[in-house]
Amino acid sequence: MLPLFLLSMVVNGTVVLDPGHGGYQPGAHAGKGKYEKTLTLQVAEAAKAELIKRGHTVILTRTTDQYVSLGARSRFANEHHADVLVSIHANDAPRSSDAQGIETYFLSPRATDAAAEALAEKENDDPNTDTESGGLLGTILSDLKRSNAAIESELLAARMQGALVRATSAKSRGVKQAPLAVLKRTEMAAILIEIGFLTHKVEKEKLWTASYQAQLANGIADGIERFLNDNDSPELPPVLTVPLISLTNRQKRSPPPKLAAARKKGTAVAKSSSKKPPAVVAAKKAHQKRPAAVVAAKPAKKKTAGALKVAAKKQVTRATHAAR
Ligand SMILES: [Zn+2]
Repeated sequence: MLPLFLLSMVVNGTVVLDPGHGGYQPGAHAGKGKYEKTLTLQVAEAAKAELIKRGHTVILTRTTDQYVSLGARSRFANEHHADVLVSIHANDAPRSSDAQGIETYFLSPRATDAAAEALAEKENDDPNTDTESGGLLGTILSDLKRSNAAIESELLAARMQGALVRATSAKSRGVKQAPLAVLKRTEMAAILIEIGFLTHKVEKEKLWTASYQAQLANGIADGIERFLNDNDSPELPPVLTVPLISLTNRQKRSPPPKLAAARKKGTAVAKSSSKKPPAVVAAKKAHQKRPAAVVAAKPAKKKTAGALKVAAKKQVTRATHAAR
């Protein structure tokens, strides 16, 4: 029997699953007239069913064999205020038929290696490039959400890769980074998973079976739940207040005198770059919390991503998993 307090530890979230490709974009060819777009939809449906069973809200970016632009997929997740976006894909390696296994990607301007770069090129194949609206303030708010999401995405990728490999016993090809268009504008933890190789003799058969898809679905659900539970740290009071107008100014020109002076004195100021000011570093050390500007930029219903790096190391007992 599980103690009741453990059951309350499971955090429910809004999950957007993105079955890769669709319509006139079939993705990788699996032979015998089978395509990646069909497999990704099957696995997304299986994962959706599993996640709903566990109490989560799940929405798919497509439920039929239709074309959806990469920009529309990330916008869809933003509009639904998703906690997590998982884009589902299958790999192929026509010149290396023994390549097999699962890999998980999070967004980065640079690819892990040449193979990751080639994969991004393949998955980014979309004639429609979407532009962003919302003006400068909208862009800044999105940037803030994205910089927060970038840290979360790395953690989600680690959790997902571990969970998928555990659930399927597939070969782990690791967590990788690549400039993937589908993840580019997402404002939540967002990853792309490559669930296996359609060019591997054994794996390509296994991937189409209901039993293996159920294992993948379990792995996807486990990965998401581990991430959500790790991310569910208690709120602490904001440690930094940043007037948005200062950020707006920073985007246009060099910092205003007040801001520059404050920075000289080491006063808490916000930075839109990835380098954190001393106040933020100190705050993170003391509380392991994100700066208030980032916290404020997140939807109120979301849990803040506190103690991410620490939490990543901490094993949170997941009640539903333990109950299995
Ligand atoms: Zn794909």
